[in-house]
Amino acid sequence: MPTESTFFLAGLFLLLAAAGWALGHFGERDDVDGVPPPLNIDYLKGLNFLLNEQTDQALEHFMKMVRVDDSTIETHFALGNLFRRRGEVDRAIRIHQNIIARPDLAAEQRDQAWSSLAKDYLKAGLLDRAENMFIRLAAGSRYQVEALQQLCRIYEQEHEWQKAIDASQRLDVLSGKSTALQIAHYYCELAEQAVDEKDYAAARGFVKKAQRGRPRTFRGALARGDIARATNDTKTALRLYHRIIEENSYLISEALPRLVATYQSDGSTAKLDKSLRSLFKKNPALKKDIAYAAIVNDIGGIDVIDECVEEYMLNEPTLVEFIDMQVMAGEEEESRRKAMVRVRAGLSKLAAATPRYQCRECGFSSQRLLWQCPSCKDWETQRPFASVQFDTLLQRSGIAR
Ligand SMILES: [Zn+2]
Repeated sequence: MPTESTFFLAGLFLLLAAAGWALGHFGERDDVDGVPPPLNIDYLKGLNFLLNEQTDQALEHFMKMVRVDDSTIETHFALGNLFRRRGEVDRAIRIHQNIIARPDLAAEQRDQAWSSLAKDYLKAGLLDRAENMFIRLAAGSRYQVEALQQLCRIYEQEHEWQKAIDASQRLDVLSGKSTALQIAHYYCELAEQAVDEKDYAAARGFVKKAQRGRPRTFRGALARGDIARATNDTKTALRLYHRIIEENSYLISEALPRLVATYQSDGSTAKLDKSLRSLFKKNPALKKDIAYAAIVNDIGGIDVIDECVEEYMLNEPTLVEFIDMQVMAGEEEESRRKAMVRVRAGLSKLAAATPRYQCRECGFSSQRLLWQCPSCKDWETQRPFASVQFDTLLQRSGIAR
């Protein structure tokens, strides 16, 4: 099937033909007998390739016929970028290399060609080549800011976090726009790498640097809590997890399982019960968040949390429609509790099958919290859905009428 780029090339050949006739570039004019000039053979060949959908040959022809000069360079750029956008990267690379090969290219056009070629390499997955070209552009060109932004994306893909920090810091200065949150996440990534290598001192150092920036990321507190837990500093771990729950409800789903596991490994779930009850006295609205976090993380068997979940289920209009919660609530203590545990476990299973987080910028959703959105590449833009989407879940599972 002819593609958009085939049509574009065909358009170029038609333009060439028109220009050729107008300017007398093609063929010999035969003014004597008043016979129209013959069509240029190269032009006909090119058009023939297109008609046979041989885009590569047609492109070669186009490049042979039309030298890169000041009047045609924008057409070459347009064609190259069109091929890249369509995923025809090899062709885009050939066109941009053809531009760069021009000996008398102005500095500005050379930078534009370098930038285009670097993007081709990026799209082709040739990260090393793209990186080298962007490094040159970042050293000094009008594409400096764009090159640094692209370098950050490359280093993110390669998990080269220190290089990403350096590029971001330069970007901060050049663009005047803060990349502090992004840099904080790069430090958190370094901290997590250090934790994997059990280098806890280095990990602590990176978290400290992550928390210096503003706006501050709560990921730093979560990471510090995890380091404390890994080094048996239970007191610090609990303090940090508690702080996340008290101050920042959007990470409750991440902090609650860690908090429960830490109390359980310490054999002190009674303390968890006490601290959560005193927290609810100060802030009763948190009960709903805790219930949600318990359902999506399948946490059960802790009285204070089970009570939150029960209250949540009894007040959830969609659930009340499907399960006779009031009858359940009126049952004997033991059977009621068993039924509640069953319902809660069922809901946890259903919740595990649906997205829990969504990006505020682009709407990308996922089950796991992703610090960097894979779609728009922004950092810390995901937020949890406000509640389990019971109606969708029940419909999907075929329970709904
Ligand atoms: Zn996004």
